[in-house]
Amino acid sequence: MKTLAATVCCLFLAVPAVHAWNAVGHRAVAGLAYDNLTKKARARVDDLIRRHPDYNQWIQGAPADAKKRARHAFMKAAVWSDTIKGDPRFYDEARRGITPTPTLPGFPDMKQHRNWHYINVAFSTDGTPLPKAPPTPNALTQLNTIIPQLASQEAVYLLPWVLHLAGDVHQPLHCVTRFRKGQNDPQGRPWSDLGGNTVNVVGAYNLHAFWDDALGIVDSDTYVNQLIKVLAKQPKEKPSVTTPDTWIQEGFQLAKDHVYSFGNEGGSKENPIRLDTNYVQKSRELSRRRAALAGRRLAAVLNTQFN
Ligand SMILES: [Zn+2]
Repeated sequence: MKTLAATVCCLFLAVPAVHAWNAVGHRAVAGLAYDNLTKKARARVDDLIRRHPDYNQWIQGAPADAKKRARHAFMKAAVWSDTIKGDPRFYDEARRGITPTPTLPGFPDMKQHRNWHYINVAFSTDGTPLPKAPPTPNALTQLNTIIPQLASQEAVYLLPWVLHLAGDVHQPLHCVTRFRKGQNDPQGRPWSDLGGNTVNVVGAYNLHAFWDDALGIVDSDTYVNQLIKVLAKQPKEKPSVTTPDTWIQEGFQLAKDHVYSFGNEGGSKENPIRLDTNYVQKSRELSRRRAALAGRRLAAVLNTQFN
């Protein structure tokens, strides 16, 4: 019989897919958080999740047992901010000429808010001039705005956002964007790599997707629950840090130190970057560490807000 570690290890070696941390990562982060909630906080989040307009989607295929069902819905809710990107009830407000979709009961608006998922803190290793500050809104402005509102009427809508964004900003490429000499927009102005999305790598859709998928890509309850057990065994480093600013500063530093450790290459289509075995192994270890932190910190935030 395979050990848990061996099973998870094999699954990590599966072929990467094109996804957003993907559903596996977000569900695992939320599951670990849920397991670390106080009784009081858990009762509050269960109530908020049940009152969300999309609750019925989150309990599809959920266990019949009430407690397991609530945990399942909470974990699904953590993916909701990504699923609305492909949901026709919602619209991408950043697209020119887009017609807003009608506001439905229970939602303050039907915007996809794609720019809430990351913060583009710029860096360069070759002296390319950088923008002074990251564009807003971004993951930091939104986490700082939303967390204090969890006690408000809007909490039903906002809670899934907190579950999602706390996960996102622990993926280093959601905290950074790289500028390089010669990498310009059509007007000749310096242009970033969009958090690794324009960097082609061998064996993955791009560098950003490689990291999004680093926790695994098998979106089954069995795999996700195994992953949560693996995350729960990660060392407890600064789990009580509840300031999103610190989470993002750490992610930015990790991106510079590890994500871009292959050098200043741009990863063109013709010349994709080949990530060596050591890089791949370290990325998986780092991703598990970050996801474990995300889960514990998310629990700390919710325990504070709901006690
Ligand atoms: Zn996201």
